[in-house]
Amino acid sequence: MKFDTKVVRAGIKPDPTTGAIVPPIYETATYVLDEVGKDKGFDYTRSSNPTRQILEDNLAAIDGGKYGVCFASGMAAVDACLKLLSAGDHVVSSDDVYGGVSRHFNNVLARYGLSFSYVDTSNPQAVRDAIRPQTKMLWIETPTNPLLKITDLQTVGEIANKHKLYFCVDSTFATPVYLRPLEHGADIVMHSTTKYLSGHNQLIGGAVITNRKDIYDAMKFIQKTIGAVPSPFDCWLTLLGVKTLHLRMPRHSANAQRVAEYLERHPKVAKVTYPGLRSHPQYAIAKEQMSGFSGMLSFELKGGIPAGTALMNNVKLCSLAESLGGVETMITHPATMTHVDVPAEQRHARGLTDGLVRLSVGIEDVDDILADLKQALEKA
Ligand SMILES: *Cc1c(COP(=O)(O)O)cnc(C)c1O
Repeated sequence: MKFDTKVVRAGIKPDPTTGAIVPPIYETATYVLDEVGKDKGFDYTRSSNPTRQILEDNLAAIDGGKYGVCFASGMAAVDACLKLLSAGDHVVSSDDVYGGVSRHFNNVLARYGLSFSYVDTSNPQAVRDAIRPQTKMLWIETPTNPLLKITDLQTVGEIANKHKLYFCVDSTFATPVYLRPLEHGADIVMHSTTKYLSGHNQLIGGAVITNRKDIYDAMKFIQKTIGAVPSPFDCWLTLLGVKTLHLRMPRHSANAQRVAEYLERHPKVAKVTYPGLRSHPQYAIAKEQMSGFSGMLSFELKGGIPAGTALMNNVKLCSLAESLGGVETMITHPATMTHVDVPAEQRHARGLTDGLVRLSVGIEDVDDILADLKQALEKA
């Protein structure tokens, strides 16, 4: 099956009892056994559920993986990956990770004996230098949030392989349409399905995809033991969202490219970061590794924080909101919204300034998005 066909069809069969083309929402806690020791493959929804199973098979297929495991949120999926480790283990992580991820690493997992080093993983030497005897995992986000740094997966994958580290990639921003990390040597791909995969700002969810049976077995064990499972209804909504992923992403990407080029020429804009711009520091790797650049960009106004605030308070079409990857264009202020829990000096050290504005470019008519930004920038 080709990619676009997998998006629509992989893992999905007509319902065996009715022929329904859309899988039913199996909203049930438990399943009746035929007789002692004989069930129909399901025993309790924390362990498995038919609607969830279909989503897990579908997401695995579109990422080019054998196994999928779904969670109640992207963060629950991150947590499940880290539960592969034990007290004393060390993780080398991208420095510009999603704010909730570093909060979980530093404020929760560090109390359980894990330790973390944050490095700019777009520089492979920085990864090599950070590895210690206790290092067990390489946690990569590419492109990163919100600075859109790109990590060369082939190169850091070789480093992970040499040191026998779990090689995990948070691929939320790229989606399987533009990047399939398993094809570049990753052991684990993690997604916040809240974002592009479900695509309509309608739910919170997460997924882990792998080709390794040992990792799959560990993930299933963690899923049923800890129980951060998505509801059957949310799985069903995610399945509906995924069906148009291959149509939505090119539009997100094309609109973001136009917006990035417009902002780059705008006299009030100091800097635009978008992997599809030649000015992006890892443009060459992005172009080689990804088949498109997705819909996320960030920028800095010459007027700093007051100008950024005026812009965000004056947009009319763009929604001032957290989150990303939905059909609506959303504007965010990382320093006070998504990354408020990252200490200011850490934020500044990694280039996440207080004036940085992040855009999740939606799939509206790009002329309307540009007109809205133009009028708001006049007041900035
Ligand atoms: C949103 C996000 C997460 C966390 O996912 P939730 O579904 O909000 O729990 C993790 N990583 C990235 C890159 C994200 O954008």
